[in-house]
Amino acid sequence: KSLDRIDKVEENIKAFITITREDAFKKASEVDAKIKAGEAISPLTGIPMALKDNMCTDGIRTTCASKMLHNFVPPFSATVYEKLNKENAILLGKLNMDEFAMGSTTENSAFFSTKNPWDLSCVPGGSSGGSAAAVAADEAFFSLGSDTGGSIRQPASFCGVVGLKPTYGAVSRYGVVAFASSLDQVGTFTKDVTDSALVMNAISGYDKKDSTSANIEYPDYTSFLQNDVKGMKIGIPKEYYGEGIAPEIEANIKEAIKKLEELGAIVEECSLPHTEYALPTYHIIAPAECSSNMARFDGVRYGLRVEADNLVDMFCETRKEGLCDEVKRRIMLGTYALSAGSYDAYYLKALKVRALIKQDFDKAFEKYDCLLTPTTPNVSFKLGSNMDALSLYKLDVCTMPINLAGVPALSIPFGLANNRPVGLQLIGQAFGEGKLLQVAYTLE
Ligand code: GLN
Repeated sequence: KSLDRIDKVEENIKAFITITREDAFKKASEVDAKIKAGEAISPLTGIPMALKDNMCTDGIRTTCASKMLHNFVPPFSATVYEKLNKENAILLGKLNMDEFAMGSTTENSAFFSTKNPWDLSCVPGGSSGGSAAAVAADEAFFSLGSDTGGSIRQPASFCGVVGLKPTYGAVSRYGVVAFASSLDQVGTFTKDVTDSALVMNAISGYDKKDSTSANIEYPDYTSFLQNDVKGMKIGIPKEYYGEGIAPEIEANIKEAIKKLEELGAIVEECSLPHTEYALPTYHIIAPAECSSNMARFDGVRYGLRVEADNLVDMFCETRKEGLCDEVKRRIMLGTYALSAGSYDAYYLKALKVRALIKQDFDKAFEKYDCLLTPTTPNVSFKLGSNMDALSLYKLDVCTMPINLAGVPALSIPFGLANNRPVGLQLIGQAFGEGKLLQVAYTLE
């Protein structure tokens, strides 16, 4: 049925880079046989799903939407894919994204742009735009994406689906092509909060192959699906409202606040004073880590190689040809921030400010169960708007502080503005995904 749906709408949506039709049928008949044999089945058994194309899938092309990896077929799988395979979910294919997850509209894909299913002339958001669009257009029941500064929550909000960025360390990054390793996190796109809990149950947990994976007890996330927020304390960080946020988005959020109060939650204004420094801090740390991670794409090991007379020219020509302007910009900025003359002034300073941003959240969570903000300052906009880099970076104001702090956050659709979906962001304490799901479930 999902493949039929893909046949019907994919031509317009363009969410998939690769469709694994035959593998999906093969897996489906295997799963069928298992069910008939009476083997234990899980809630994800037989459920059609798709993965962002930066997650390695053994034997299936994994491109990161880049010319650099256009022909790369990994010989191993990301832990998240292995886990979903074990749960008998069925992979339909690999989803479009901004090249190497750098961008906010999926227009940085080297192959094609994905369309927003709500309005085909609009962007689906990014960088996990394919993951959001595939779920919004009913092509897959759920999908996975990665979020370094908002790349799950922002496209979820633009496409009117639920997007969860878990706590740093709660989901393995093994086999996920790194952008900025201290910020990257894998998470879920689903139609509703219940599905988000079910998929989290499948993908979270300790993985010895990821050195930053947290070795703790993980809860059954479905146990938090209760319609109850009575007595919960919800903070409204004032820095996330006002200037730069579209008034119609604020109006929707006010509705949500009213609803929570009616249900017995205590909602109060609070402050995260270092918020204004999050954007510049992110744009030092993310490019710095990116410049180091991207060094491996040199024409020797994987993917594209442009032949040249000598090794250095081969490196240069391969990277010139294989990477898009945005990726090159990040590599240059990051290399600069890490160079001997500017390391202390930029990179080290950014790490210190990052600690202050994290402290803001620690302090807030001494008092509040969760925080509520808009996911994005505005709703989706037209494809081909050609915004300059800085204006695009500013779209992440509400999402990137959360990655710097490493805490979990979830975007749920909450009404429309100008006929396009509005996302509401709930932010929680580290490993407090359960509470976020509970509040989101109540608002649904
Ligand atoms: N839009 C942000 C960026 O371009 C975030 C990307 C992401 O989360 N992968 O860096």
